[in-house]
Amino acid sequence: MSAHSEHFRIEEVAPGVWAALAGPTGACVSNAGIIDLGDRTLVFDTFMTPQAGRDLREAAERLTGRPAALVVNSHHHDDHIRGNQAFGSADIIGTVRMIELIESGRPGDLDVYAEGVRAWIADLDRQLADPEVPARNELALSRRMAGEVLASLPDLTITVPTSSFADELIVEGEARQAHLLSYGGGHTDSDAFVFLPDCGVLFAGDLLWVESHPWGGDGHLDEWIDIVYRMNELRPRTVVPGHGTVAAFEYARVFSRYLTFLCDIVRQAEASSMPVVKLADHPIPPEYGGWDATRRFRTTLEALGRRAGLPAD
Ligand SMILES: [Zn+2]
Repeated sequence: MSAHSEHFRIEEVAPGVWAALAGPTGACVSNAGIIDLGDRTLVFDTFMTPQAGRDLREAAERLTGRPAALVVNSHHHDDHIRGNQAFGSADIIGTVRMIELIESGRPGDLDVYAEGVRAWIADLDRQLADPEVPARNELALSRRMAGEVLASLPDLTITVPTSSFADELIVEGEARQAHLLSYGGGHTDSDAFVFLPDCGVLFAGDLLWVESHPWGGDGHLDEWIDIVYRMNELRPRTVVPGHGTVAAFEYARVFSRYLTFLCDIVRQAEASSMPVVKLADHPIPPEYGGWDATRRFRTTLEALGRRAGLPAD
């Protein structure tokens, strides 16, 4: 049994606390976490595929010397929950709304779903065949992710959380407490995160992204900004984001500014009834020019513009 996996990289962020950071295979997509509570092991989020989830389960067991007893899901998006099935008898914890969203988002007919993934792969291959295609690295990562998702389907069982909490659940371990918190919905209708008061580590899920354009199309930007502000009141020292590298929590200021910038350009577009296609063409400001996932900047603006009721073109 190994803590190493081709799918992710383990980084110790405090004694007994590890980030599992998504690697380039496409099987993870998002980050996860492993927390040794002293007498029990808690895993935070479970990646995009059962194969990455199995490696995460093994890493947790290897690092803490016992199987994970608790799994916390941060929100309903596939890249945070599809490894749940690897955790057998562990108690999987989410919020009531999150569980509803996982239930309603599960693929109905896996054969039909597989056809959709194959069509997506064909489209990505067509785009990648163009040597001049923009954002080639992002497309190539999507292609690897799609391949991993397709490979996972024969084995996939969408596994919903087995228990829920509303806004706060404190798990008392022998060595430390884990505070499971939900301040409502920001990135989605319902987002949860884990804060460890003893070491100041905060596992943010997709409420925080580090140097990566966030997906905001399912979100509520004003509430999201408030949630990040309230997180700051916990005085965290270190954040493990849903996407990107481990960072000092001060980085949250940069991310809040980015969300405010998104809010502002969507409001300006609403005020002038700007078409969605024009909003989506908004240039990326230079301070965010080096961030990952530039295509997601565009798709997020398209989704936000549609939800604001802007004309299509
Ligand atoms: Zn997400």
